Formats: sequence, C-alpha cells, structure tokens
Amino acid sequence: MSWEVVFGPGGIPIQCKGNSMADGVRCAKALGLGAIEWELVHGAKVKQESAEKVGLAIKETGLRLSAHAPYYISLISHEHPKRKKSYEYILDTARAVHYAGGGRVIFHPGFYGKWDEKKAFEEMKGEMEFLVKEIKALKLNVSLWPEVTGKFSAWGSLEELLEMRKQVKGLNACIDFSHVHARSQGGLDSKKDFERVFDLIESYDKKMLEELHVHFQGVRYSDKGELSHLEIAEDSPPWKPFVELLVERKCGGTVICESPVLEADALRMQKYYRSLTVE
Ligand SMILES: [Zn+2]
Repeated sequence: MSWEVVFGPGGIPIQCKGNSMADGVRCAKALGLGAIEWELVHGAKVKQESAEKVGLAIKETGLRLSAHAPYYISLISHEHPKRKKSYEYILDTARAVHYAGGGRVIFHPGFYGKWDEKKAFEEMKGEMEFLVKEIKALKLNVSLWPEVTGKFSAWGSLEELLEMRKQVKGLNACIDFSHVHARSQGGLDSKKDFERVFDLIESYDKKMLEELHVHFQGVRYSDKGELSHLEIAEDSPPWKPFVELLVERKCGGTVICESPVLEADALRMQKYYRSLTVE
C-alpha cells in the first residue's frame, strides 16, 4: 500500500512518565503511534539544544513531527506590532521544528477584526506570501499549514483555507474536522456530510488527499463556534465515517488527535483504520 495515514496525539501522551517533548516522542512510539504534534501553543521560544533533543527522539523512532504555533497569532491585525509579534511566533515555531529535523508548522492565522471577508482574504494572502518567502530565505526545513479555525471571529473557514492554499504557492492547509463541524453548526453528521468535505478538497486539488494534515476530535460549540474539545466517543462529529473515508479515498498524511484523552483516541482511530486496511 503506497498511501498511508499515521495517527498521533496533540502533545505529550497523558500516560507518559517523562514531561519533556523528547520523552513524549518516545512514549508515543512505545504506544504504537506514528506521529506527534509539539504543542508550542503558549510560546515557541525553544533552545536549539532542546529542539535537537526532540530531533534525536524523532530520528530514533521515525515518528512524523509537526508543531502547533502559539494561539496569539493575529496576522491581519490593524495594529502592526501585533503582526510583527505574529511573525515571531510562527518563525520561532519553525526554528524549533527545523532544529528537531524538520516538519510541519501548524497555526491559527488570526481574526477578521474590522475587515470584511473579501478584504481579510487579500490582507491574509499578502501575509502568507511573506511568510512562505521568509521561511525559504531563512532556509528552514519546514512547511506552513494554516488551520481551519473553530470560531466565527477567527479567519479561516474550510473554503478560505483551500482557496488560500490554491493561490499561495508553497502553502498548505491543515483541516481540523472539529472546527469544520463547529463552523457549520453541526454540519458533519452523516457519512454523506464527510463525503462532501472530501469532495470539496478534491475539487480544489486531488493531490491534497495524498498528503493531509488533519486534526480530529469531538467538539462542543455555540452559535459563535467552537467552545471546547471532546472525546471522539461523543460523536460530535462522528469519527467512524471520517476514518472510513481516509481508506476509501486512499488518503495519506497525518491525523493528530487533540481530544481530552489524546493518545487513547488516537489509538482508537488508528485501530479502526488498520482494521479497514488489512487485506
Ligand atoms: Zn489548532
């Protein structure tokens, strides 16, 4: 099978005894998982030495590495110092990943603020183009994956992310299905609903399914969007049709689980995925 999806936790596994990211990588491997996301969500200033320790664990285990940049990014803020700070958050995360051997940088791009949707897109496009160029100029071995966001105030619907990826060469897009569910006010209910999302992705670029970066967990939401993450057992959205479509559409890439039970749900999805892929 040339296509394969690997699963992992968003952060150090809960049952892990150590508390460093390098410990977390080894622990995820021991549990039988294939990926891990480094949660640099409250700050991404990592010493090169610490990042290299993570890199050593990654090399040892063969896990796929991604890192989630700080939550405070606000790329199209009307206050320019906030934009500059946002570049720093993203570039700090990128440096950490680079020194850990390279991988994916995931981030929430920012808020609409006073912009209307059209203007926000144009502003955001300029920022994304700048960041792609900057990563290249700094020769950092990372790729940029802005994420579909869960609150209506945050820029980044599924359609906006797919369109941005199409227009900005070198940019990727992380699909968070719980955020798609929250933004559509419970729109992912049946397998048909998931099929529509996969169809939409394919309509932008068929190749995208071969190298996905996905977040999947349950979500609680209000009319403003996402409130909090839930275990996949809550079926909000239902997780089985999602895993089935990964197989049916021959997807490749990484699925990161940010549920409250992290690795337990990542393992549960992986187990079902494997049960469908053995011949
Ligand atoms: Zn996120």
